[in-house]
Amino acid sequence: MQLLSTVNAVRQYVAAARRQQQSIGLVPTMGYLHEGHLSLARKAREQNDIVIMSIFVNPTQFGPGEDLERYPRALERDRELAAATGVDAIFAPAVPEMYPDGYATYVRVEGITEYLCGASRPGHFEGVATVVSKLFNIVQPDRAYFGLKDYQQAQVIKRMVIDLNIPVEIVTVPTVREADGLALSSRNKYLTPVQRQSATALYQALKKGAVLIRSGERRAEIVREAMVAEILSRPETRVDYVAVSDAQTLKPITTINKGKVLLALAVWVGNTRLIDNLTVEVADNVAHHDEEQATPG
Ligand code: AMP
Repeated sequence: MQLLSTVNAVRQYVAAARRQQQSIGLVPTMGYLHEGHLSLARKAREQNDIVIMSIFVNPTQFGPGEDLERYPRALERDRELAAATGVDAIFAPAVPEMYPDGYATYVRVEGITEYLCGASRPGHFEGVATVVSKLFNIVQPDRAYFGLKDYQQAQVIKRMVIDLNIPVEIVTVPTVREADGLALSSRNKYLTPVQRQSATALYQALKKGAVLIRSGERRAEIVREAMVAEILSRPETRVDYVAVSDAQTLKPITTINKGKVLLALAVWVGNTRLIDNLTVEVADNVAHHDEEQATPG
């Protein structure tokens, strides 16, 4: 497996693959790999001749006072995991390679970024859209892989490639969870044992919301309150947001109607902010979970 750290090295690597008519799948990550990342890499492995994974803790998507400095990094370990999963090359640039002196260009997606994480992390999706469009221009992949764990992020990227005519197919992959339901996240590493226990509340709350909707509840506020109560019943938890939203526009809804509903939340467990979501398909009077369906929209 190749370890590439410059844009030029990636361009040469990709040009060689293209000369042999090979298709390219890109898996963007911030590293500290876990099974969630590896499931994206496996999907990319199935669908492409060459799999390139980027590992870059992107400073422009972190706000002031967020965890940019302490975000976990483990490149050696990541290399081994990626190689064992069939990744052909890692692109792990230093910050100045991506944002040299004089850097001044940002990509802003409107609308869907106003809600959920966009509301509580101003500038976050601008950083995400900017770095992902740079990665798309550097690698020029046929396909790129995103986890539904970050549902809003996947929607933002899908919107961006349509709006900017970027010729990359966006493939989404279901959330990988621990046995107790906690979504895998590099940030789970921050949790103390007590907090790790509390963190199961995120998925419990989502399930509770889904059960309520499935049993016929159509008032979003009732669903929301039940989810909030589930979270606050655990030690060291604080709600950032709990939302019942339209799964396409991400706009909060008041009445649950036929169609796809997104239950999404962000919760502080101690000093760690965790997110999770679930989509529920509502068909007139019956609703079912939709988590296994890998496409948000
Ligand atoms: P990150 O390194 O957290 O920026 O995540 C890189 C990619 O992995 C994103 O597309 C995430 O949505 C995806 N990802 C992170 N955690 C999971 C998970 N538990 N299941 C599936 N995909 C995930």
